[in-house]
Amino acid sequence: MKAYAEMSKDELLALKCELEKSYKEFKDQGLSLDMSRGKPCTEQMDLAMGMMDVFHSKADLTSASGIDCRNYGVLDGLPEAKKLLADMMECKAESIIVYGNSSLAIMYDSIARSMTHGVLGNTPWCKLDKVKFLCPCPGYDRHFAITEYFGIENVPVPMTPTGPDMDIVEKLVSEDETIKGIWCVPKYSNPQGISYSDETVRRFARLKPAAKDFRIYWDNAYCIHHLYEDKQDNILEIIEECEKVGNPDLAYKFVSTSKVSFPGSGVAALAASQANLEAIKKQMSIQTISFDKINQLRHVRFFGNIENMRKHMMKHAEILRPKFEMTCDILDQELGGLGIGEWIRPIGGYFVSFDSMEGCAKAIVAKAKEAGVTMTDAGATFPYKKDPKDSNIRIAPSFPAMDELEKAMYLFTLCVKLVSIDKLLETM
Ligand code: PLP
Repeated sequence: MKAYAEMSKDELLALKCELEKSYKEFKDQGLSLDMSRGKPCTEQMDLAMGMMDVFHSKADLTSASGIDCRNYGVLDGLPEAKKLLADMMECKAESIIVYGNSSLAIMYDSIARSMTHGVLGNTPWCKLDKVKFLCPCPGYDRHFAITEYFGIENVPVPMTPTGPDMDIVEKLVSEDETIKGIWCVPKYSNPQGISYSDETVRRFARLKPAAKDFRIYWDNAYCIHHLYEDKQDNILEIIEECEKVGNPDLAYKFVSTSKVSFPGSGVAALAASQANLEAIKKQMSIQTISFDKINQLRHVRFFGNIENMRKHMMKHAEILRPKFEMTCDILDQELGGLGIGEWIRPIGGYFVSFDSMEGCAKAIVAKAKEAGVTMTDAGATFPYKKDPKDSNIRIAPSFPAMDELEKAMYLFTLCVKLVSIDKLLETM
């Protein structure tokens, strides 16, 4: 197939006419498919249903460490839950706090605490004229929403195949004292599925921020979410790297079992230096008496240890892999060589990131919607939902069934073709 840019006006018009017939056929099917959010599918959640058999009315809810999980107490998490989550985070159990059900809530709390009370004795951000956060783009919309919500200025930083553009990050962070943090999804990033290289992680650990209260928000949401047994990314452990270079307090690391057990009913944790943990626990002790230890115990009893958790994630991979492969195969087959889009074939995480020709993403998403397929809003992967090139679209293949996903992807590629032809015709 010829690249669209090399086609004459007549060729493009003829092709458009043909593609419009297929589009109408799709529309007539009255599809109603949602490809917008990265949710596990039913079969994935079924994998953890054994967790419901762990407890019954005669069950002993005393943990191995002798704690009656039914009662108040143990603010920073059951010791055995700490061990499990710390192994997941590749940290020491003493470096983590186990919270409630959501890592996003821990991130929100961390920003809220920094706003009202400051970071390790520094001026609360709410008393400063300006606070900025770096946002590697494309990135996770809910990260950007938290800082936007608190009136923090989100500053975009481009992603590269090895992580955020570190030349830009280093320059901005070292020169601008109003920059107080950066959002990172270091492994199988949302949405590109990129894992940060060792050099990127080392450069993060060695940052010399102008602001003493600058923190790296290291959201390792997809740390064990591989799609393949034999092809897996590994990244350097940030807390240890920061310690090694004398920057121990620089990073907060977040994780949860949302996409391991049940989204919204998992267990979340934070890892940080002892100084950071002490300050955080001081605030936590005002906020709550203790989190849900019964759920922590349920996870410990169900998974037992990190090896079993990894095996469990391979069962997820068996369900997800065909969906991701089909998504990318259809993109290759339908759009390969046409010069109207680029995409990355991920080996983990929850998304496939697609970049259309400039100025086409909004129209593609609208066209798919018109035919009954909801994609993540174009622009959502950028701060303030403003994609300067209007080109990035996040595809979430996990939730739909294979036959629905197949239809949705063919429709998506059809929309990409139609919108790209219109774009090219504009200039002819
Ligand atoms: N972090 C990232 C990068 C995510 O993609 C998601 C969910 O999609 C979350 C956090 C949400 O995590 P939780 O359910 O632990 O709040």
